Formats: sequence, structure tokens, C-alpha cells
Amino acid sequence: MPNDPSSLSRRKFVAAAGAALVAGAAGAGQAQELPSGPAGRPDPSLGSPEPLPLDRQLGFAVVGLGKLALGEIMDAFTAARRAKVTALVSGNRDKALRVAARYGVPESGIYDYANFDRIADDPNVDVVYIVLPNALHRPFAKRAFRAGKHVLCEKPMATNAEDCAAMIAAGRAANRKLMVAYRCQFEPHNLTAMRTLRHGDLGPVRVVTADIGRATDPRDPADQWRLNRALAGSGSLFDIGIYALNAARFLVGEEPVEVRAQLYAPPNDPRFREVEDVVVWTMRFPGGAQFHGSTSYSYGFTNCIQVTCDRGVMVLDPSMEYHAQRLRIRDRVIQWSPIDQFAREMDHFCMAITDNLPIVADGAEGMQDVKLMLAILEAGRTGRTISTDWGYRRAADPATTVPDNLGVA
Ligand code: NAD
Repeated sequence: MPNDPSSLSRRKFVAAAGAALVAGAAGAGQAQELPSGPAGRPDPSLGSPEPLPLDRQLGFAVVGLGKLALGEIMDAFTAARRAKVTALVSGNRDKALRVAARYGVPESGIYDYANFDRIADDPNVDVVYIVLPNALHRPFAKRAFRAGKHVLCEKPMATNAEDCAAMIAAGRAANRKLMVAYRCQFEPHNLTAMRTLRHGDLGPVRVVTADIGRATDPRDPADQWRLNRALAGSGSLFDIGIYALNAARFLVGEEPVEVRAQLYAPPNDPRFREVEDVVVWTMRFPGGAQFHGSTSYSYGFTNCIQVTCDRGVMVLDPSMEYHAQRLRIRDRVIQWSPIDQFAREMDHFCMAITDNLPIVADGAEGMQDVKLMLAILEAGRTGRTISTDWGYRRAADPATTVPDNLGVA
């Protein structure tokens, strides 16, 4: 919780401790033997425990002070080495003032949704981080680009492909960078899983299975907009099923060429008047791998991914927690000490901006997930197999682009 001082001190500890590997059943040594990608050499500066001097860190404006921003992102600036928070954008000035006081943001860095465009004149803001309901990502990204800022946008990138295309075009027109905040691509267990699969140690991937769900609570304002189609885009798939989709793509290292699906919404549950509850879907990858999985807004909390290969099985369970993943490769259990995924993704974006490096999750990557999710929903609605072989190839593979050490090696 943002008001819990222990969370801040824990994060400072994590940032400082950084490197420790918590021995799983296999012990630390075996985890360190795992292969890294051929180009996955550590970047010394990103791995350094020392942050850049404050005047060389990029300033971030956080737009939307809801659950994610207050529960994770604000604290993440403590662990970040290249990103600092310099502005807040909120509809609630009292809340913004309280948060600003806690995190050292000057009053001059507080904006509301109406006067947000004045951020163009704020030299302390380099990046706008959009943490708003999904349908608001496009308008705020466009306004941020018009203001001459770079944009980090929460997932899903938008509620439809037209919005994604408009965001990409706005970034190009402004000559500013756009990244979608896929934190798991910076998380050591997910990276270890990717690198192990790329190395080929387990043989070809045959099947990826994933079940990701949680129970929504209509009394919670953060769930109210999630159950509203106009604001959310769709139900569980756009919110949390996206993690299974994105992970299947980064684990297999290919793009799915066809999808099939079934949708279900319990008829008498008032939560599902506008959005689906359960989506069960399959995807076929060109190299022969298959995916089958599900997502739901009424499951007990689960986020388990299994990869079955010719020479063994790996399981990420949990796969997308904020602080505690667990990876099993055959019978070896690997558990890295927690790192701040949000800090790592912000640092990656800062490096991409300052050093003009490839972005692991650029706008095209965010748009690919949105297009695939729309294809999955169409497959569910029509009962048809939908071809998704439209030739997309991601610009940068996290398995080889994100440095090995990420504060953990
Ligand atoms: P939230 O409801 O807690 O926060 C949203 C904020 O937007 C609130 O401060 C709310 O007041 C504000 N807001 C402005 N206009 C609004 C409107 N018209 N309707 C509703 N709220 C409005 O939601 P959240 O859980 O913080 O999610 C925000 C974004 O972050 C979403 O895109 C979500 O998918 C994403 N998210 C990502 C992760 C992750 O791990 N990367 C986790 C949670 C949420």
C-alpha cells in the first residue's frame, strides 16, 4: 500500500540488495548455470547498483493515481536508476498533493486532466506514463506526444487497433518514442524461461498452457471500469488474459498464425452484462507449437503457465506477480530474489530514449496483442478459426535485448 512506510523501506532494501538469488530446491548454483541468449550480455550501467545522478535521470509524469500507480509505480521510482518522478496528473488535487508530498514532487508538477496540455512547458518532464483505464490511453498518448513528450503506456495499449495505429502515428509525427508497459519482459524468471527455450536445451516447444484469472469485485472502482466495455475494451482477456497471450509469444519466440476460441459469461451474473467472463482459446504457431489456455474474471486468483517440450517441461507459477514468481525447469526450482519490474521497464525505456536503443515492447508490439485479442474474441463470437498470419515480426526479442543482470546477477 502506498501509505505503508514498510513498503518503501522494503523496496529500498530490494534495490540495494539486488543481486541475491534465493535458493530454490535446486540451489543457487544450478540457476546460474542456465543459458543466456547469444546477445544477452549484461549492460554494466543498467546492472550497476548505483543510480545515475538525478540530473541525468529522465523525469516522468504519472497520469492517473489509481491502484497500480499508487500501489506499485510510485514506489518503483525508488528502485529505478534512470527514471525519477517529476509530475503527477490526477482529477483529485488533494490526493495529488498528498502523493506529491510523499514522493518529493513539486506543487508546480501537479496537473489535472483538463490542464494536462500545459505539461508541454514543463522542462522537468521527459516521459508521460499513462496509467488510466484502457480507452483513455489513446487520447492521453496523443496529448502527450503533442506536448513533445515520450510515452510509456500501460497494457493493453488500447481497446482497438485503430487507437493503436493512431498512437503509433502520433509518436512518429512528434519524433518521440512509445513503449507499452509489459513488465514481465523485464522479470528474471520470465527472462530465464525465454532464454532456456531459445537455447534449445529442452528441445522444441510443443504446447504452452496458461490459465490466468481473478475474481472481479463490482464494488471496487478499479473493477467498475473493467466491467464497462467502452472503457475496458473487453473483459478478462484484455486485462489479464493478455499476460498469457504475450507470454506465449515471447516464450515460443514466434507469432501465432491462427486462433480459435470460446467465450462464456454467466447469464445471471450482473458483472458480465457488457464483457465476457471466461475466454478459452487456442493458437497455432508456424514452427508447430500450440497454445491452449483460458482467462476469467471469476476464477480464484491464478496465473500459471506451463511449457511442454520434447525434452522436458517448465512451469512458471506464479508467472506474473509483482514480487514473487517461481520457475521450475524439469525438476529444478528457480527463485530469484524480488526485483522491481516496473523500475526495470522504466530504466529500459530511459536507455532506449537516451541511447536510441531498440524498445522491447514498442507500439507495434502493443498493437499486435490488441489485434490478436480482437481475433480471439471474433473467433469466440463466430465459432470460426481466424487466420492471424499478417506478417508481424517483433523488433526486439527480450531474451536477447534485455540485459542479463537486471540487478539480480
Ligand atoms: P484504477 O481504476 O485503480 O486507476 C485508474 C485511474 O484513472 C484512477 O485514478 C481514476 O480516478 C482515473 N480515471 C481518470 N478518468 C477515469 C474514468 N473516466 N473512469 C475511471 N477512472 C478514471 O485502475 P488500475 O488498476 O490502476 O489500472 C490502470 C491501467 O493500468 C489499466 O490500463 C490497466 O490495464 C493497467 N494495469 C497494469 C498492471 C500491470 O501489472 N502492468 C496492473 C494493473 C493495471
